[in-house]
Amino acid sequence: MSTLCRRCLLREAFPADYEKYVLSQLSRIPPAAKAAEESYQARLNACRACGQLSNGTCMGCGCLVELKAAFKKEKCPFKKW
Ligand code: SF4
Repeated sequence: MSTLCRRCLLREAFPADYEKYVLSQLSRIPPAAKAAEESYQARLNACRACGQLSNGTCMGCGCLVELKAAFKKEKCPFKKW
């Protein structure tokens, strides 16, 4: 990754990396552990509006937000979701 893209999810900044690192992981999450789609999208919208987001990574916890937000039990380190 060479370009800094604040407020972008990985899928927007680097679609090939999103497909390589996130999509396959998302498909492996057991349904019972997965956040509901509406909740997932609301979480991602909160991340898009957050100054901690950089190239799809949360600078507060170091996670790829598109993956972290997909887990029902995960929480934002700044309590935004
Ligand atoms: S997980 Fe929380 S702190 Fe990190 S980018 Fe998303 S809203 Fe911001």
